[in-house]
Amino acid sequence: MSDLFNRLNQIAHNFWWSWQPEVMAIFRDLDPQLWTEVNHNPILLLKRLDNDTLTRRSREMAIESRVLYALRRLSEYLTGEGAYGRRHAGPLLARPVAYFSAEFGVHESLPVYAGGLGTLAGDHLKAASDLGIPLVGVGLFYVEGYFRQQIDEHGHQQEFYGETDVDLVPMRRAAGPDGKPLIVSVETPSGILQAGIWRTQVGRNDLVLLDSNVEGNSPEDRKLSARLYGGDDTVRLRQEILLGVGGLKALRALRLHPSVVHMNEGHSALAGLEAIRRRIEEDGVSFADACREVAIRTVFTTHTPVEAGHDRFKPELVEAHLGSLRESLGLSLPELLALGRVNPDDDEEKFCMTVLALKTSRLANGVSHLHGHVSRKMWQNLWPERPEREVPIGHITNGVHVLSWLAPQIHRLYERVLGPRWSHRMHDPDVWAGIDDIDDGELWEAHQVMRSRLVDFVRRRAGDERLLDPTALTLGFARRFATYKRATLLLGEEKRLDAIVNNPDRPLQILFAGKAHPKDEPGKSFIKRIHDLSRDPRFAGKIAFVEDYDIGVGRALVHGVDAWVNTPRRPMEACGTSGQKVVLNGGLNISILDGWWAEAYDGTNGFAIGSERTHADPEMQDQRDSEAFYSVLENEVVPAFYDRNDSGVPRAWVARMKRALVTLAWRFSADRMLIDYLQRMYLPAAGAISADRV
Ligand SMILES: *Cc1c(COP(=O)(O)O)cnc(C)c1O
Repeated sequence: MSDLFNRLNQIAHNFWWSWQPEVMAIFRDLDPQLWTEVNHNPILLLKRLDNDTLTRRSREMAIESRVLYALRRLSEYLTGEGAYGRRHAGPLLARPVAYFSAEFGVHESLPVYAGGLGTLAGDHLKAASDLGIPLVGVGLFYVEGYFRQQIDEHGHQQEFYGETDVDLVPMRRAAGPDGKPLIVSVETPSGILQAGIWRTQVGRNDLVLLDSNVEGNSPEDRKLSARLYGGDDTVRLRQEILLGVGGLKALRALRLHPSVVHMNEGHSALAGLEAIRRRIEEDGVSFADACREVAIRTVFTTHTPVEAGHDRFKPELVEAHLGSLRESLGLSLPELLALGRVNPDDDEEKFCMTVLALKTSRLANGVSHLHGHVSRKMWQNLWPERPEREVPIGHITNGVHVLSWLAPQIHRLYERVLGPRWSHRMHDPDVWAGIDDIDDGELWEAHQVMRSRLVDFVRRRAGDERLLDPTALTLGFARRFATYKRATLLLGEEKRLDAIVNNPDRPLQILFAGKAHPKDEPGKSFIKRIHDLSRDPRFAGKIAFVEDYDIGVGRALVHGVDAWVNTPRRPMEACGTSGQKVVLNGGLNISILDGWWAEAYDGTNGFAIGSERTHADPEMQDQRDSEAFYSVLENEVVPAFYDRNDSGVPRAWVARMKRALVTLAWRFSADRMLIDYLQRMYLPAAGAISADRV
């Protein structure tokens, strides 16, 4: 193996490369076509490149110096010199935050995520790394991941599963001092559940993933961690035991002693019970004292008002799988169940992981201003003596990891205009004020290039060169096809849609992508509806569905769309992050005033669909929102896009692009989010500053 090859491999083994445009460019330039074929996996790329090609390309590209420079930057980055956290993360520098999540979306080559929860967790890890906030991610290694999607000729979603080759992702098995793989064991009434531990580097921080496919487990348990959101309640509960209880044990096996445990969504709520068990068994404190102490160091983020998003298990199931833990806690079954019930005396009530998480953490938050309100209302019954506004659930609005979602071409533009150190201060509004110095024509030109790249991307994927028009107003909608997100809100009145899409001087086209959960028939029918319209002669080539949505597809879409459509049934969208990714690249949002958009929209930085009023009857609300959507398109969006000056620049549109960047990019960056978590959750939980309401 050549030195060059080894160095490239070294870079490929830290996901840091994935948010460094010039490092990514090294891999791409080695063989652009192969780079697409391997779905941007540098380890696979290096494996498939033969030595001669590598040598030839490295001569042609003067690659040596680029690789050496990248390696030097990586090692400088890893020292953490000058990072925000050095000055501000205090006690976390000695003991990190442990961030538990059922999904992590770091990159498309490690498919252990399904949607927004995962991409958020991935962005959380990356921003913590950039800021130098010590944080270790804890999750599960789903070797088959979430399903892959194809749409058949009838518009039906077909689901299939691939298998991640562990040699082709930057993971290594954690081993003990004796060199043997570390194994964690969790006692359950049906036997001991074991798991191996994988580690992967995300910049300065580690992601730890548990894998139940180890010898010694029963055949069912070996498959336990194979699929994300794929099993029944038993699988779900046992996966959550693995994540929460197993995850905490894995940290100890790795000699990581967190100062704070962050439970990202209720799936990991059992981490709290495991921590309580430890205090009781090892230090002999009472259950009540252990509970209180653990809660101080535990923080919890709730992510959805949708009922089905909150796991609830039957008492029999809880006893069948958590009986051993219950005994070590010294609790009777009703006492354990009470921890997961709003009303402890209600024998009918199931055991809810969100309730458990709220009861075992002192600081809790929703993920937008509006979602904070909705969550306080939703869980008020847990604090019957308090008025709603005093329910101890605050909010920290989600943000996105800027460098992961920013197109390289736009990145170069910012590098020049915002100053070379802009990316170290992207949570600072002053940095983004510099956007106003960009020439309108230049910004517009850069964006046009991005749109036409997106059109190429969709054509290539669909194998259809006639799809889409690279100059037409291009809308995008991509996210999970959960019904409350109402992907088809715009498709109700075909005549009106026809007039908008096929306006000869002012054409419009719409791209859709997203997966419906395999058991979600209504969600699948939305996909079919879009598919059918894309085959309708009136809309063929103008409405397109991009299959198998993942982080890579998401990146292509947010880089190139003119506007992003977001149509949840208010107030069901807790935050939504895809629209934030669009902003960074100069796209505009056309959105219901829900989630982040309810606090982001100021009348000048995008478009609102309808008002903040809701209707008690969901059908009425849908009708009203659909009408509002058509009307904003006809009266505001299309005119602003096509009203051009003598140089062909849509002045009013570009003004909105700039307003969006100046007012939103810093606020909805993951850096701002991490700093909020640090100051309002992590430092108080670590005992560094007194806890107030978030
Ligand atoms: C950003 C992202 C999401 C989240 O989209 P929402 O608008 O929050 O629903 C889901 N999936 C992928 C692949 C993403 O990149």
